[in-house]
Amino acid sequence: MPNKIPVGIVGATGTVGQRFIQLLEGHPWFEVSWLAASDRSAGKSYAEAATWRLATPIPQRVADTQVRSAAPDKDTPRLIFAALDATAAKEIEPLFAEAGCAVVSNSSAFRMAPDVPLVIPEVNGDHTELIKTQSWYKKNGGFMVTNPNCSAIGLVMALAPLHRRFRVEKVFVATMQAVSGAGYPGVPSLDIVGNVIPYIANEEQKMEAESCKLLGTISDGTVAPADLKLSAHCNRVAVEDGHTESVSMKLGKVAHAEEIIATWEEFRCFAQKLNLPTAPEQPVIYERAADRPQPRLDRDRGRGMSAVVGRLRPCNIFDWKFTVLSHNTIRGAAGAAILNGELLKAQGYLD
Ligand code: NAP
Repeated sequence: MPNKIPVGIVGATGTVGQRFIQLLEGHPWFEVSWLAASDRSAGKSYAEAATWRLATPIPQRVADTQVRSAAPDKDTPRLIFAALDATAAKEIEPLFAEAGCAVVSNSSAFRMAPDVPLVIPEVNGDHTELIKTQSWYKKNGGFMVTNPNCSAIGLVMALAPLHRRFRVEKVFVATMQAVSGAGYPGVPSLDIVGNVIPYIANEEQKMEAESCKLLGTISDGTVAPADLKLSAHCNRVAVEDGHTESVSMKLGKVAHAEEIIATWEEFRCFAQKLNLPTAPEQPVIYERAADRPQPRLDRDRGRGMSAVVGRLRPCNIFDWKFTVLSHNTIRGAAGAAILNGELLKAQGYLD
């Protein structure tokens, strides 16, 4: 694309904001042109404002860019990636949609709003139709799209192809979630080293509600959630990046192990067919080794955008059980939002 689409990042200095900057460097369609964070950071250069925590250096152009206050101004680009905590997002994100921006949000603030699409392109890319029901869109073309909670996304990527073919009826899931999921500086080291914390505020409710919305169907501008019973147990563990989940599921139709594995391995959608730049070649990878997936070894598969599944075996309570792993700040946050931005471009919502 000769003229790249300028994009802004709100919450640019945080854990997810930094991933946006890393993943957008050299992006074939998008170019970061505008950065914002809290008033603590506004007015500073990005290098001064951010405590950079990634293994690649801050791109020089970004390092020198001045961080702005989190409000639309005359330079704000049309496409905004937002990585704000939910309280700030509730107030700030609508200001951008109101100003005519396409807001692609990571926070939970509006995910369950009936007119806001909650989207994983491989699963429910058609839910972006909800955009047309938003009052901002009708007024001036502004709108909001969200990506799911970082633990819901891995689970739903594994369930979606099975739900289409065998109808998933019940799910029990226990998560082992990385510390980076709590932002920076996150959980104090003395609380997490050598420990497991069996509580993440509101996480279980988010996983249960968001999974049903993601697997739901859209008609006449309304999403009907999937009729699926889901019970989630969420735990924080001393892993840097990558959420691992142990899942048991009951299916509406009889399925054999090789059919389930083939359904995962063959799963593709138009994100792959259209070659969206951030779409992984294979959204769900089945790993046959008995002791995989593991966060350290498997979280970067598909450039951090694939869900890695393994250990499919019969369940004594439901039908089948398995393990799924996904990268929480890439597939679970910044990468998911960038892929949603690419989907919106491909669907013509950024024109
Ligand atoms: P974080 O590291 O705490 O970063 C928060 C960002 O928001 C910082 O840039 C901060 O700016 C900015 N901010 C805070 N209060 C603000 C305010 N009042 N006005 C404007 N900017 C403000 O959090 P994170 O982990 O990146 O998470 C960001 C969002 O993504 C959250 O909603 C989180 O739930 C969601 N999420 C996170 C993950 C993950 O794995 N970490 C995964 C999925 C979704 P300053 O630096 O100036 O304070």
